[in-house]
Amino acid sequence: MSARVLVVDDMPVNLRLMQALLAEEYYDVLLASSGQEALEICHREMVDLVLLDVMMPGLDGYEVCRRLKADPATLHIPVVLVTALDQQEDRVRGLESGADDFLTKPVRALPLFSRIRSLTRLKILTDELRVRAETTARVMIEPWQQAMEVADRKGRICAVLESREEAVRLIRLIGSDHDFSPTNDPDSAVHAADPFDLYIVDLQAASFDPLRLCSRLRSNETTRQTPILLIASPEDEPRVVRGLELGANDYCQRPLDKNELMARIRTQLKRKRYDESLRRSLLSTIELATIDPLTGLYNRRFLDGHLTQAIEHAERNNRSLCVLMLDIDHFKRINDTYGHDAGDEVLRQFAEHLKRGLRASDLAARIGGEEFAIIMPDAEIAAALSAAERLRRGIEAEPLRVQDHTIALTTSIGVGSLAADGQRGLMKRADMALYKAKRDGRNKVEVAELGPTVGA
Ligand code: GH3
Ligand code: MG
Ligand code: MG
Repeated sequence: MSARVLVVDDMPVNLRLMQALLAEEYYDVLLASSGQEALEICHREMVDLVLLDVMMPGLDGYEVCRRLKADPATLHIPVVLVTALDQQEDRVRGLESGADDFLTKPVRALPLFSRIRSLTRLKILTDELRVRAETTARVMIEPWQQAMEVADRKGRICAVLESREEAVRLIRLIGSDHDFSPTNDPDSAVHAADPFDLYIVDLQAASFDPLRLCSRLRSNETTRQTPILLIASPEDEPRVVRGLELGANDYCQRPLDKNELMARIRTQLKRKRYDESLRRSLLSTIELATIDPLTGLYNRRFLDGHLTQAIEHAERNNRSLCVLMLDIDHFKRINDTYGHDAGDEVLRQFAEHLKRGLRASDLAARIGGEEFAIIMPDAEIAAALSAAERLRRGIEAEPLRVQDHTIALTTSIGVGSLAADGQRGLMKRADMALYKAKRDGRNKVEVAELGPTVGA
C-alpha cells in the first residue's frame, strides 16, 4: 500500500522538488501552498502523512501543526516539520507544537523515506483500530486526552549503552525527569521483570549488536509495543535506516542536546500512552457493543458471531448443537397494565431466570424486545427439549414480584437443532417452531422439524 503524503510549502519550486522525489518512490502526493489550504485538505481527504514547511506567510508550520493536533478529526495524522535551519530551538519548538518528527532542508531521500515508512506504519495501525471501533470522535479523543494528561508523568526508561561514561552522560541529561536504568546487557533489557516505557539503544555499541537488539525487542511479546529511540552519530545513517526498518521509532544524533532528547522522549511516551488508552477504550467499546444494557445478557450481534463459531466447532468435531428461541407471551399487556418501567423489570427478572437455569457452556442473548435466544453447544435435541420444558415450567410456576404487583408470566419456546443448512437454516427452523408454539395457544415448547442432513 502506498502512503498518501501531503506536502505543504509556500515556494512552488520546493513543492515541485518534493513531488518529484516522492513520486519516484510511488507515493501518492498532494500539494498545498499555504497553511490554510493544508488544513482544508486534511479535513477533506485521507492523508497518511504531512510534510510541513515551517516558515510560511500567514499560518506558519507550528500553528498548522498545533491546529491539526488539537482537532479530533486530524490529530492522528503524523506531521513532519521541514525546517530551513539546522537549529535546535526550531526542532524543540516543532516537537512541542505536537509534530511527530522533523527534517532539515535540503531534504535528502534517505531520511525522508525512512521517516515516512516508520510514521505511516503507526498510522496504519491506528486507522485499523479506528475502523474497528466504528465511531471516531469518542473512541479517539478520550484516549488522546488521557494520554496528554499523563504525558509528563515520569517514564521508566531502559538505556542499553556500551560504556559507563555514556550512562553517566545520559543520566546527567535526563536523570531526574524519568526513572532511568542504564545497562550494557541486552538480555536483561529484553527480559526485564517490570516492563519499561521506552528503550534507548546506542547504535555505536560494539560489545553487543544494537540492530539485533531492536529486532529482539520487536519480536518479544512484552516489548513489542514499547517505543525504541536510537542514539546515533552523523556517519551512522545507514544503520539508522536499518534500525527504523526493524521497528525503532525515532533517533537522536550526537552530540545530544538535552531539549531535543527530552522532546523526543516525551513524544514517544505520549504515543505509547495514547496507544494503550486507545486499546483499553476499544475493549470497553467492544463490551458496550455486545452487551444488552437492560438485562446484561449478550445482544443479537454477539449471538450471531458466537453462533457462527459454535457451529464451526460443532461441525469440526462432529457434535450436535441446539438453539432455543423464546418469546414472552402477551408481553404487551404487561406494559399496558403496569407501565413500561414494570415491563423493563419483568425483562430483567426473566433474564435472571434464564441465567440461573442454564449450564455454563450455554449462552443466552436478548435478541429483540421480549425475545431471547439460547445457544446450547453439545446438546442433542432431547436434552434441549427437556431444558426448554424446565425453563417454561419454572417461569409459569413462579410469578414475578415487580413493584407492588405479582405478575404471572408464561413463555413460548421453539427448539431447533443444527443440520446441513447451517446458521440461517437453524435460526429459521427454531423461529418457525416458536411461531407454531404461539399459534397452538402459547406457554408451549415446540421442536422444529429436523433440517436436511449432509448429502441429502
Ligand atoms: P405474543 O404472545 O404474541 O408474543 O404477544 P406480545 O404482546 O408478547 O408480543 P408483541 O410482539 O405484540 O409485543 C411485544 C411488546 O414488547 C411490544 C413492545 O412495546 C414491548 N417491548 C419491546 N421492547 C421493550 C422494552 O425494552 N421494554 C418494555 N417495557 N417493553 C418492550
Ligand atoms: Mg411476545
Ligand atoms: Mg414478540
